[in-house]
Amino acid sequence: MAQTLRACKECSAITEEDKCAICGNPTSREWQGYVIILDHTKSEIARRMGISINGKFALRVR
Ligand SMILES: [Zn+2]
Repeated sequence: MAQTLRACKECSAITEEDKCAICGNPTSREWQGYVIILDHTKSEIARRMGISINGKFALRVR
């Protein structure tokens, strides 16, 4: 699964596209780990990562 997925270099959103659907920046196949944000208003991780929407986000993107 992880091999075909990409992560945005800017906002870390995980996607299958070459460009991020959220911010339009290029995505990378070089990423590690992910978190699923179900409610960004209550998520400590989302706040630390600066995420203001729900979804799947990579922890590290190269
Ligand atoms: Zn993005």
